[in-house]
Amino acid sequence: MRRTIVICAALLAITPAIAQKSRPHHRVAAAMPKPLAIHDCGRNVTLHLSAPDPTQGSLLLLELRSATQTVTEIKGTWDDREIPFWQELKPNEKSPNVWRALVGVDLELKPENYPLAITAKTESAEEIFCPATIDVKEGQFATESLKVAPNFVEPNPEQLARAEAERQRLRAIFATVTPDRLWDGSFHYPLTGLTTGGNFGKRRILNGKAGSPHSGVDFPAPAGTPVYAAQRGRVVLAEPLYFSGNTVILDHGLGLYTLYAHFESFSVQPGDLVDTGAILGKVGATGRVTGPHLHWGATVNRARTNPLELISLLAVGAH
Ligand SMILES: [Zn+2]
Repeated sequence: MRRTIVICAALLAITPAIAQKSRPHHRVAAAMPKPLAIHDCGRNVTLHLSAPDPTQGSLLLLELRSATQTVTEIKGTWDDREIPFWQELKPNEKSPNVWRALVGVDLELKPENYPLAITAKTESAEEIFCPATIDVKEGQFATESLKVAPNFVEPNPEQLARAEAERQRLRAIFATVTPDRLWDGSFHYPLTGLTTGGNFGKRRILNGKAGSPHSGVDFPAPAGTPVYAAQRGRVVLAEPLYFSGNTVILDHGLGLYTLYAHFESFSVQPGDLVDTGAILGKVGATGRVTGPHLHWGATVNRARTNPLELISLLAVGAH
């Protein structure tokens, strides 16, 4: 059978420090309460989790809903990171008293229980404290063996230095939380005609050597196919990178980024504010690839997550 799989190794080196960190203080205790999808925070406020026990690489949507009073000063932390909340009125909602936030579970985050803490104030200045637990489960990812050009598996010192410098730059980009929410509404596939995609999280054996897991979804497509912005965002990077080839990164605000790799050519430049569906460039085969395809990734609060979950979780009318 002809092998049609095309792969890349975009962001292979971007393993956040968090993934290797030992976290004994968060280890599962037998007495730990079972994670719940809905928590009663008191004062007619409830916290809703789209998945109380997500797998590695998934995204969670949090909603803090207040039935009676306006809630302000909402703050949240998870996995030692601040969670940015936003408010938007969905078409089927009457009350603006819903705050939402995305929590990204990194692809390699150690599977165990992580406490989530949310605080807020009611209009009558009552404190709300809403603790919860998120039980991260191990992701079930396939392993594949692939052959790529040797210089991508064993780069020379110069190539290594370049890849490392790029890794640091990308880390700095993803650690930046733009306080404004630039996206509005549903996220869309970056190519036309797609309804799904696979190979997120796959563990890789490249030329016989264990590589990092695949941090995005690959969509095979002919070179020259237009690539579209999944949502509104600002271009923060549009340039050739060692592993991911010609790469575009969009900052959607609130710590959410989407990444598009291996372009043949660019249609945007850093600083551009692009709307949903804007053409970012054309599918190509630059960087570490075995053929033309688009690599699409999503990073939420520095966690590498499955971008397809942006489409399902933030679909307008889904909540
Ligand atoms: Zn890829």
